[in-house]
Amino acid sequence: MELSLVIPCFNEEENVRPFFDKTVEVLGDACESIEWIFVNDGSRDKTEEALRTLCALTERHVRVIDFSRNFGKDAAILAGLQASRGDYTAIIDADLQQNPKYVLDMLNFLKENPSYDGACAYQSQRNESRPLSFFKNCFYKLINKITEIEFYRSASDFRVLSRKMVRAVLSMPERCRFSKGIFSWVGFRVHYMPYTVEPRHAGKTKWSFWKLMGYAVDGIVAFSDKPLILSSVLGMLLFVISLVMMLVVVIKTLIFGDPVAGFPTLASLILLLSGIQLLCIGIIGQYLAKIYSESKARPLFVIRDEFGSEKEKEE
Ligand code: UDP
Ligand code: MG
Repeated sequence: MELSLVIPCFNEEENVRPFFDKTVEVLGDACESIEWIFVNDGSRDKTEEALRTLCALTERHVRVIDFSRNFGKDAAILAGLQASRGDYTAIIDADLQQNPKYVLDMLNFLKENPSYDGACAYQSQRNESRPLSFFKNCFYKLINKITEIEFYRSASDFRVLSRKMVRAVLSMPERCRFSKGIFSWVGFRVHYMPYTVEPRHAGKTKWSFWKLMGYAVDGIVAFSDKPLILSSVLGMLLFVISLVMMLVVVIKTLIFGDPVAGFPTLASLILLLSGIQLLCIGIIGQYLAKIYSESKARPLFVIRDEFGSEKEKEE
């Protein structure tokens, strides 16, 4: 198998068929052999029916992994990568925002440049609101500062990986799967190429602002311990400041006989210090929660059913 396409789907009933037709049109003749691995991530609409119909009608290699509930895009990507058999594996969304012609470009690049094991498409222009763009910029600046690995701005999960790289990604056993970080962490030479994101074919995005924020925190906690160091540094700093303040108060009282500063100072100090304490406990809590979920070692997804096209069953 030359190319595996891994397609996470969550409520994409209207997109499955147009997506499939488009990939056949663009990649069908250009690649020797392709398999489609749709991962139905607990869709609540008729995605499963659409996929069953597709499998019944097509002459191509189509497989479907049907999750028992929604486990998230990262879990769907993992399941797809585990099932993939191609020399190259592409990860692509089902909503046609990512034109399959870029998969061909990435694939051709990797074939022509064997020293590269990954190609990643990044959005050259972002169709998003200014505040969101601002927060994303801040996130990338921060995460690149506090982690050892490099996070490429605007890089998405839209990529093509060699078998070697897929194996490396699958060898990472962690439960908290921040895919972007994992793809960077495994290393290898990765080529970044720009792409223009297209409007969604049907349905709407699954990402709200707060979901993205939570995802950003997950990414930082998974790949950096700097926030913990920050809380210790804050503690030390406050300790030194309080020593100096104590000295000042003692000296002022002994030499000048000044009365102790008033209630407002005290109240704001208490607020400030308890705020910092809560912040630090919160930071530790984030890591503790991650340790908890890693130690439970639950599976990252549960498969309810697996099915495929006739062609797939023949083998
Ligand atoms: N997706 C998924 N599980 C989820 C959320 C999203 O499998 O919990 C899939 C979704 O069906 C789509 C891809 O991930 O194929 C990207 O999602 P979406 O289009 O909502 O994200 P955006 O393009 O807005 O970043
Ligand atoms: Mg999308």
